[in-house]
Amino acid sequence: MSVRGARKQYGDFVALDDVSLDIPSGSLTALLGPSGSGKSTLLRSIAGLEELDGGAVLIAGDDVTRVSPQKRDIGFVFQHYAAFKHLTVRKNVAFGLEIRKRPKSEIDDRVDQLLDIVGLTGFQTRFPAQLSGGQRQRMALARALAVDPRVLLLDEPFGALDAKVRADLRTWLRRLHDDVHVTTVLVTHDQQEALDVADRIAVMNAGRIEQVGTPRDLYDRPANDFVMSFLGDVS
Ligand code: ADP
Ligand code: MG
Repeated sequence: MSVRGARKQYGDFVALDDVSLDIPSGSLTALLGPSGSGKSTLLRSIAGLEELDGGAVLIAGDDVTRVSPQKRDIGFVFQHYAAFKHLTVRKNVAFGLEIRKRPKSEIDDRVDQLLDIVGLTGFQTRFPAQLSGGQRQRMALARALAVDPRVLLLDEPFGALDAKVRADLRTWLRRLHDDVHVTTVLVTHDQQEALDVADRIAVMNAGRIEQVGTPRDLYDRPANDFVMSFLGDVS
């Protein structure tokens, strides 16, 4: 997936300033940067939830810049996940498959597989209110993946949870990604989270990409003072 020359302004404020980024197929890329650097704006633009003022978004070579979010074939998980409260875990995960009228046996197999991967096999008949915060986000990941999206976009999905649960969820995400290999972009302002989980990190600041590379690249060869001091904050 790639973003070419993306530009986005809110009035006079430039939120995305000529952003170009290649996300390799099957990678888990972290979009890392301080609050207000434009991470969510970039992610929402990739999803089609924001309209760019300039530039393009390509998914698997297709220019989707003018394509509606529903037709971009993207899975999205936010910090505060809006589950269907009146549906069980199983029904929540199956939702996207059911509205696509997939055969019941296919839905059952797929849901079983995903619940197994996210460790919620024993929780199928529970309702979202009966899950912990971490379990709810694991359900959200399973639901986003159920329809085999071409790209999975995660915007601070663990941000609202405490440190121990966040650390567990990183492990889950890594395991999930190793199983499913879907091209994933994880937005985070947490350097440690990006370093722990991502194959590649794109560092954002003030609407621009400062550097893209493996965690090792960024540590060994930071492109500038911003990257050096931002990564240096890891405790
Ligand atoms: P991040 O996710 O990195 O914290 P955002 O992409 O949410 O940053 O925001 C980048 C900047 O754009 C912030 O300064 C924010 O205030 C501004 N911004 C985001 N959305 C809007 C909007 N709808 N209207 C005006 N300003 C916005
Ligand atoms: Mg954000």
